[in-house]
Amino acid sequence: MNKRTFIKLFSAVMASPAISPFLTWAAEDKQKNWAGNLEYGTDRLYSANSLEQVRSYVKKQNKLKVLGTRHCFNNIADSTDNFLSLKPMDELVAVEPEGRTVTVGAGMTYGQLCPLLHRKGFALHNLASLPHISIAGAVSTATHGSGEKNGNLATAVSALEMVTGDGEVVKLSRREDGEAFLGAVVGLGALGVITKIKLDIQPTYLMRQYVYENLPLSAVKDHFDDIESSGYSVSLFTDWQKQRINEVWIKSRVEEGQAFDATREFFGAKRATKNLHPIAELSAENCTEQMGVPGPWYERLPHFRMGFTPSAGKELQTEYFVPRQHAIEAVLAVERLRDQVSPHLMISEIRAIAADNLWLSPCYEQPCVTIHFTWKQDWPAVRMLIAVIEKELAPFHARPHWGKLFTTSPAELKSRYKKLPDFIRLTKKFDPHGKFRDEFLSTNIFSS
Ligand SMILES: Cc1cc2nc3c(=O)[nH]c(=O)nc-3n(C[C@H](O)[C@H](O)[C@H](O)COP(=O)(O)OP(=O)(O)OC[C@H]3O[C@@H](n4cnc5c(N)ncnc54)[C@H](O)[C@@H]3O)c2cc1C
Repeated sequence: MNKRTFIKLFSAVMASPAISPFLTWAAEDKQKNWAGNLEYGTDRLYSANSLEQVRSYVKKQNKLKVLGTRHCFNNIADSTDNFLSLKPMDELVAVEPEGRTVTVGAGMTYGQLCPLLHRKGFALHNLASLPHISIAGAVSTATHGSGEKNGNLATAVSALEMVTGDGEVVKLSRREDGEAFLGAVVGLGALGVITKIKLDIQPTYLMRQYVYENLPLSAVKDHFDDIESSGYSVSLFTDWQKQRINEVWIKSRVEEGQAFDATREFFGAKRATKNLHPIAELSAENCTEQMGVPGPWYERLPHFRMGFTPSAGKELQTEYFVPRQHAIEAVLAVERLRDQVSPHLMISEIRAIAADNLWLSPCYEQPCVTIHFTWKQDWPAVRMLIAVIEKELAPFHARPHWGKLFTTSPAELKSRYKKLPDFIRLTKKFDPHGKFRDEFLSTNIFSS
């Protein structure tokens, strides 16, 4: 079954309450993740419409996994038993202007929420490179955007409603539940089914985006801090060739004191004269507006527009979080691998993220710089390469993105997450029988 057939089938189920919420994918062609590199281990999908449906389904199953928008590249969202989808639970529950929060159903995507929020006069602090992903799935893997003062997307969560392994409803909030809340937000789908999420909001704002081409690598070495602080969100795209950063994307807020002064030169790079795709040869049609044209935050913070295919499409992704103080050394370590990396690479992106206090966030108690790789879909070659990259980045205690491909061992993960034992204790409290424990969790979390 191809993606279109799936969407059609899904829409039919949504449109007709008479059809069973059990949606069994066509047996002859298994369902895959967004990138198509992973065939899921079961066709059994139950699509829940309400909290009560979630509770009774969880109570009945011995094993299940919640599926978001399937944008992870590894098997973190996979199951060999049952999938539960909360796609129909995508309502905007409440905007609380005074408390500056919005509460949404866990099936909602950022693409659905952001325009609604903007129309009500509010905004989120940041977004990932694409708006297509579910909010619950994104926060569960510590998905991030860029901006040295911006925490990852999970840092906006102020409360969660969750159905635990026993089918009970638990509410956790930043204000009332202290450590348990901090452990549960980046939950890797291990603690329960998130049914509602409350996010911090702020008054809506406009942004501008400028792109510069050909930033010399020497400028990154000499002026990294100045470059990173030049905008609200800064992304450096490179193919690691010719000692340069191919494109610098600078997203700034239009407010006074925050606007970026878009001179024609930026540390030796030249301001672009047209909209660009991060991979310069590709059409910029699916990219957000550039050239300094002001627009709402949600149409500038992501690189890719809703309604279009994000990124390159047929690809693999890996990403490593390096403590900010090692940023330049880490970038240079990868640059030295350019001849090995280049034949398999589509593009790399370097971003900065603020520290947070969420137990399994790769930015736990440390500001980070991320080095991301969009690869051609040749897993055997990429697998060998990422092992080499991980070895080079090991001295910096690099943490891999939970939702992308990595070969970091469970022992290394354990040594890089001091809260892992506490996280394991928390999962045993909320999921005592291991209903949500899949192969990814068994290997990477529980075997360590
Ligand atoms: C083109 C592309 C661009 C990307 N860009 C970025 C980027 O800019 N920054 C970044 O950090 N990442 C990025 N990613 C990675 C991706 O956004 C994350 O990995 C994210 O987790 C995907 O969300 P999802 O809903 O698709 O999750 P899924 O893959 O469906 O699920 C991820 C995890 O969340 C759990 N989960 C989902 N919903 C729930 C729920 N309701 N309750 C409990 N657990 C749940 C699942 O069980 C699973 O463990 C990108 C991916 C793609 C394909």
